[in-house]
Amino acid sequence: MIAGTPSLDAAVRSRPRLTLGQFPTPLEDAPGLSRRLGTRVLVKRDDLTGLALGGNKVRKLEFLLAEALQQGSDCVITTGGSQSNHARLTAAACRRAGLDCYLVLDRGVHPEDQGNLLLDRLFGAHVDLIESPDPTIAVEAMERMAEQLTGEGRRPYVIPRGGSVPPGATGYAAFVAELLRQLDDRDLEVTHLYLATGSTGTHSGVMAGLAATGVPIRVEGISVSRSRELQEAKVAELSNATLHHLGLTANVAPSAVHVDDRFVGAGYGIPGPGTMEAVRIAALEEGLILDPVYTGKALAGMIEHAREGRIDRTDTVAFLHTGGSPALFAYHRETADALKGPA
Ligand SMILES: *Cc1c(COP(=O)(O)O)cnc(C)c1O
Repeated sequence: MIAGTPSLDAAVRSRPRLTLGQFPTPLEDAPGLSRRLGTRVLVKRDDLTGLALGGNKVRKLEFLLAEALQQGSDCVITTGGSQSNHARLTAAACRRAGLDCYLVLDRGVHPEDQGNLLLDRLFGAHVDLIESPDPTIAVEAMERMAEQLTGEGRRPYVIPRGGSVPPGATGYAAFVAELLRQLDDRDLEVTHLYLATGSTGTHSGVMAGLAATGVPIRVEGISVSRSRELQEAKVAELSNATLHHLGLTANVAPSAVHVDDRFVGAGYGIPGPGTMEAVRIAALEEGLILDPVYTGKALAGMIEHAREGRIDRTDTVAFLHTGGSPALFAYHRETADALKGPA
């Protein structure tokens, strides 16, 4: 028995949940990355969550859409960039749940009918592409759409960007119980968990789950957009809101949240320092598909931390592969350019 998991399990079970994905996802040894980093590396394959090319948003949507159905909603509205994995998976999950899906997307870096946006259309989502590059404009447009649908007698369930509200983050609190069980079954201990941190639900859910169980894994969030200070504050806030949502008394201190913002580059959706190199390294060492928006930045950060000696030879590091592979096809030009240089 793993310390603290029974109360976390019970808290998670008390929330409504839909089955959308396939769990547990594999926890794999990564010998090529281990050699490169000089420490043991495991990869938690949340790119294989089973729905519509997978990714971390499936865990969140199991709780979010269950709440939508419980509230009697008949449609879902959400927002993100044009290459949002969250939008693609919401569109697919809505098909399963029998809900209409409305996506209000900002054009972002690749508004072509490629990758995730192509799949949004394939899943029959109503797509509104907002011309402004400013994400707050899309959020306002989403709120207007919710009012309009309500006026038409519909019952919309609004999911904020990335599904990063307590019910969504609950998916990643549940993830902690799953991971600890896998480690326990294999008699393994992990010292660090690396993940990409964006709209914060993944990072916050993990922090909440670890706080509830008292397991001392150091979570390293590699920011894909925000500054370290802002992201750490947001993660601490949502971690505690998620614990409260689950009726758990644990607390996440802001000082326990670690974010590195050196790999953001010019901004969200734009490959930063080492991003494309990390995408290539994962492909060549492990046959893994990373993406230029999230996981490429996260692995670039993990590799740099190893170079800087922030990871010890005796540590065991888990890399959370959060998915994102469809975006690679929208970024085909950036990827092809990266292939011209030496590996
Ligand atoms: C959304 C996303 C993330 C970041 O998760 P947040 O909960 O938004 O912080 C990481 N990787 C991929 C592939 C994603 O789609």
